[in-house]
Amino acid sequence: MQNPGNNRGQIVGEHMTIETSNLKRRAALAAGMAAAASPLAVPLASPAQAAGTMLFDVKRITIPIVGSDHLFPVRRIYCIGRNYAAHAIERGSDPTREPPFFFQKPTDAIQNVAPGTIADHPYPSLTKNYHHEIELVAVLHKGGRNVPLEKALDLVYGYTIGLDMTRRDLQNAMADQKKPWEIGKSFDHAAVLGPIHPVAKVGHFTKGRISLAVNGKIRQNSDLAMMMWSVAEQIVQLSAAFELMPGDIIYSGTPENVGPVVAGDLMEGHIDGLPELKVRVV
Ligand code: MN
Repeated sequence: MQNPGNNRGQIVGEHMTIETSNLKRRAALAAGMAAAASPLAVPLASPAQAAGTMLFDVKRITIPIVGSDHLFPVRRIYCIGRNYAAHAIERGSDPTREPPFFFQKPTDAIQNVAPGTIADHPYPSLTKNYHHEIELVAVLHKGGRNVPLEKALDLVYGYTIGLDMTRRDLQNAMADQKKPWEIGKSFDHAAVLGPIHPVAKVGHFTKGRISLAVNGKIRQNSDLAMMMWSVAEQIVQLSAAFELMPGDIIYSGTPENVGPVVAGDLMEGHIDGLPELKVRVV
């Protein structure tokens, strides 16, 4: 035991003593251990998310929902690669049904485009080969781990049309060096999309034309039924690798004939049952 006569009780500052400080620390430690040991102790937040006031605000990323005042809050953007056989061939891989692969874009890469408008889309830095990829996007309002196929579509709140814009030269250069090709896919404005159409109104999209015209000429032209892995199958695979959460969205892959755009080009995306997506590169 400590000797109360030692100098641990000396005055430090006006009020606080070392002894008092130590006692407080021990009490806090004991309370923490008791809380950890109690079966009723449910941590409300990890230490990294402790209560406090924000140092500054970070903008919340949302997508408008057609026919609703609600906004869809975005958590993560997942994208599947090479999900149409003909596109897999043009990208130099085997179109047999290998397990799908996924990558992510940062949430704040989203550029919302309102139907009936032509959005200005800035040509990004560093690239000299900037490609369009027209895609169906599924958005989730439920999550889960190891979601079974028959439950997968229950997670989907709605769909929209999107462009997975790609700095192809940077992607290829990094792939050639066996380095991560994030710089080719994950940059500002790289996730262009229209507003969300709820499943309750439009149903699920398993077939139908998907196309992209540049300056009025059709470049990409396929059918959603040509996907190698359906949206439901993508959810099964993704949920084995990650815990899916409400707010996650999935770019479901692009058909063949991806290609370059330059400043001034008008891209018009189409998916049967959704409004056109119109974007001008500036
Ligand atoms: Mn893509």
